[in-house]
Amino acid sequence: MEFAAFATHAAEIEAEPADLEIVDLVTDLFEDAGDADDDLAILARFVQGRVFPAWDSTTLDIGPRSCYEAIARAAGQNVSAADVEDDLAEVGEIGAVAAGYEFGGQQGLGAFTGGGSANDLTVREVHETLVDLATAEGSGSQDRKVDLLFSLFNRCSSEEACYLARIVLSEMRIGVGEGTVRDAIAAAFDVPVDRVERALQVSNDYGRVAVVAREEGLEGLDALDLEIGRPVQAMLAQAGTVTDALESWEEAAVEWKYDGARVQLHYDGAETTVFSRNMENVTDALPEVVEFAAEHLEEPVILDGEVVAVDDAGDPLPFQEVLRRFRRKHDVAKAREDVAVEPVFFDCLHVAGEDLLDEPLVDRHARLESLLSDEGLSTLWLTDDTAKIEEIDADALESGHEGIMLKDPDSAYSPGRRGKHWLKRKPDVETLDLVVTGAEWGEGRRATFLGTFLLSVRDGDSFETIGKVATGITDERLAELTDRLEAHIRTEEGQTVELEPAVVFEVGYEEIQSSPTYSAGYALRFPRFLGVREDKGPEDAETLERVLELQGSQ
Ligand code: ATP
Repeated sequence: MEFAAFATHAAEIEAEPADLEIVDLVTDLFEDAGDADDDLAILARFVQGRVFPAWDSTTLDIGPRSCYEAIARAAGQNVSAADVEDDLAEVGEIGAVAAGYEFGGQQGLGAFTGGGSANDLTVREVHETLVDLATAEGSGSQDRKVDLLFSLFNRCSSEEACYLARIVLSEMRIGVGEGTVRDAIAAAFDVPVDRVERALQVSNDYGRVAVVAREEGLEGLDALDLEIGRPVQAMLAQAGTVTDALESWEEAAVEWKYDGARVQLHYDGAETTVFSRNMENVTDALPEVVEFAAEHLEEPVILDGEVVAVDDAGDPLPFQEVLRRFRRKHDVAKAREDVAVEPVFFDCLHVAGEDLLDEPLVDRHARLESLLSDEGLSTLWLTDDTAKIEEIDADALESGHEGIMLKDPDSAYSPGRRGKHWLKRKPDVETLDLVVTGAEWGEGRRATFLGTFLLSVRDGDSFETIGKVATGITDERLAELTDRLEAHIRTEEGQTVELEPAVVFEVGYEEIQSSPTYSAGYALRFPRFLGVREDKGPEDAETLERVLELQGSQ
């Protein structure tokens, strides 16, 4: 296909406001693609402003200024890169700026004529030149990139220049998103949308899926699988509460939310490749992960997890430290001495030729367990017990991590989706400072500690109960609190003690509900212990009035 024809299609798409019509226009584009596979694959990417498949993090690595320079050179002696920049400041968009010039001997074709140019520039030539441009390396490579780009602009009509400039600067903006391309592939080649979607998820390559849909139909699409070495998009989380989780699923799969950076590990049985969240190859920056794979893995696998920076004692360091390691290109050995990283894997997408994306989460995690010994493996608790969830959350925070993830135990792995199957626990909207007016002795190992604390609000001169924070505090912390509170015990009956109001806890919660259980008439849903307010006494505790206000504003 001539690049001019692509540009004309793109202009029509850009002029169309309605989403459904846009899908029809993209469908037309795909149907008009020449028989050569390359053309269709390239069009499926160009129409989204991409040059490379989504799994390939190669960039053109050309700055805007170099692009302006190429445009200026092609536009003739009277135009400089600074002029292009000035025009851009005025017009606001590089496509329109590029379209405003007349390029190398193309005078007369300057306006949007809707027709082709006299140059026969093809979509494939543009693509090949952009690939050459991306791979130019070493000294003088920036000049070479400008030369290559100049050679393209020099052959462009203004309409072609408009879309070339936008592709080069990743600013296509013609209203075509991933969903549009998916729907257009389905319509153009008469295959079901959901199967195109699945094929896109596993291959992460719109060009390839379009070609397979056209050449091999549904059978070909269904035969596409994950490939080791080709990253897929990470499944993402929504913010959510314990209430959301337990109302949606019978039980929640609960894991720590490790405070690190996402990695996807591909091991082919010999070689390891590590990809970042945005699918960049970060293998060289993370030798610890490569060593981990060599030591622990035997079969080819694709694993999803997090790398955490740790100090000499193995405790997690702030997340920025991990990012620093990711960005490191030189002196990795030195960087590693300063800050070591450790992987923790929480999902398994592929084992020895078998894709696991559609398996339930708990089964995928079980496969992960069978691959790894405890090391480098996330712990997954399956529970509907809110006290247990609080305990896991508090342990995670205590260990320097971010809190918890709540996952649907039956859910499939959906690459690139930010769905309701993975929830990152929302931070508390509000916290309350509450007086501890009672407690319970623990059981077993914790029999000598006060473990469950009854919390109260102030109401005039009296204190009214509003909830309990149960567990999730380390033994060390419990010992400390027991010491503090024991002095205030008023009465004791069985395991239950009544305390004189003295110590104030800062407590987070998800919601305030009416409740007959507590004397305040309200209860906190999922309260969690955040700390002792050393600076506050019982007279500074929250009032019932404030609780009513907060409840009203929910
Ligand atoms: P966002 O994805 O919202 O842009 P983010 O990258 O900070 O932000 P969050 O949505 O806050 O990520 O949380 C999900 C991230 O938490 C995952 O991408 C992953 O990096 C990290 N994470 C840590 N522990 C886990 C776990 N056990 N399961 C899944 N993700 C985890």
